[in-house]
Amino acid sequence: MKALIVITGASSGIGEAIARHFSTQGHPLLLLARRVERLQAMGLPHTLCEQVDVTDQASFEVAIQKAEAQYGPADALINNAGVMLLGQIDSQDASEWKRMFDVNVLGLLNGMQAVLAPMKARNRGTIINISSIAGKKTFPDHAAYCGTKFAVHAISENVREEVAASNVRVTTIAPGAVETELLSHTSSQSIKDDYDAWKEEMGGVLAADDVARAVLFAYQQPQNVCIREIALAPTKQQ
Ligand code: NDP
Repeated sequence: MKALIVITGASSGIGEAIARHFSTQGHPLLLLARRVERLQAMGLPHTLCEQVDVTDQASFEVAIQKAEAQYGPADALINNAGVMLLGQIDSQDASEWKRMFDVNVLGLLNGMQAVLAPMKARNRGTIINISSIAGKKTFPDHAAYCGTKFAVHAISENVREEVAASNVRVTTIAPGAVETELLSHTSSQSIKDDYDAWKEEMGGVLAADDVARAVLFAYQQPQNVCIREIALAPTKQQ
């Protein structure tokens, strides 16, 4: 059997598509999210589904240990879990910034800490961090979200340099707009309406499968080839 792949936020959108692509390639999977029933409903073979909030480092590590006991060492961690709560800093509830930094940044650090030492010891492994075009440029109403994704870019590149000598790869994937549940959690209806109008002006956005193909492409390179970053967006997105 192929190597174990760990995917966070696999209960919807991009994470679900990534899980389906790796499963089709014959990989056993550890899928993590809070809505574990959605993970189980996917019905993928050789897959352990665990209810893990990525901000809880202890339960993240326990789930990885459980999966590794069943399927062997994790060869890749795909840090995909994320939330986007758009708003303006003068009016947005501070709890929303905290949640985004907790999930998008600290959750990603928790995941890397759980797998990096054993990957370094084995002299192979791949971390794929899902950032965003909003981790490369700013957009209206995105200040805190962009802050989290700029952080993902910086952290990923820094960790890549730290673990390169151990033959461990770190890849940053930066998608533009993708049709998923992501926008639905923003509380301001007018911001959601503006975002939907922007998507319509572009004549549509990416599908989650478009991003999943990029993730699989990066992973499937030989271990001595590290795709450092892939940025992909709807052709008409500025
Ligand atoms: P979705 O809202 O469809 O999926 C988000 C996933 O993250 C869900 O599976 C959710 O699972 C999980 N998640 C959220 N909070 C937590 C948590 N605390 N612990 C564990 N899992 C959590 O959105 P997308 O698929 O679009 O988002 C996936 C990633 O892609 C995010 O990092 C997002 O920032 C990024 N991205 C998305 C873009 C887009 O336009 N859609 C563009 C660029 C980047 P559950 O609720 O069950 O816990």
